Amino acid sequence: MNHEKSLLKRSRWKSGDKAYLRKHCRDGADAIAAALGKSRHSVEVMASRMGLSLSRQPWRPGSLCPRCGAHELEPGGPGWAEGLCPPCHWEVLAERSERKAAEIEARRAYDRARDHVRAAKGGGDAKAVPWVRDAHARRRPVP
Ligand SMILES: [Zn+2]
Repeated sequence: MNHEKSLLKRSRWKSGDKAYLRKHCRDGADAIAAALGKSRHSVEVMASRMGLSLSRQPWRPGSLCPRCGAHELEPGGPGWAEGLCPPCHWEVLAERSERKAAEIEARRAYDRARDHVRAAKGGGDAKAVPWVRDAHARRRPVP
C-alpha cells in the first residue's frame, strides 16, 4: 500500500473530510475540492476509493422515478439525464408535443379570426399589409 501513501501525502484526508465528501458527493468535484481546499483530482481519487459517484445528478441507478413512483430509472436509458423512467420520459415528450400542436392550432385559429376582422373592417382590403393600414388609420383625424 505504498502507492496509497504517496497518493495521500500531498493532501491528507481527515475523517471529517471524508464525511464531508460522503455527504456532499453530489455537489460535484469542483465544489467539494473548493470546500475542502483540495485538488479536484484528489477529490476524484478519494471519491472513487470510497465508492462514491461525483455525478451531479441526485438520482442513482435503482432510484424510483419521481414522476410515477412506479418504475426504476434506467441508467443511460431514455430519461436518465432528466431523472425519469423511460415511460415517463416518452410521456413528457408526448405531452410537450401535444402542447406544441395545440399552440400551433390556436395560433392558426387566431390568424383566421384576425383575417375575418380585417375583412369585416376593411371591406375587401383584408390582404393589405397590416402595418401600412394601421399607419393610415392612425393618421385619420378622430371625429
Ligand atoms: Zn416514471
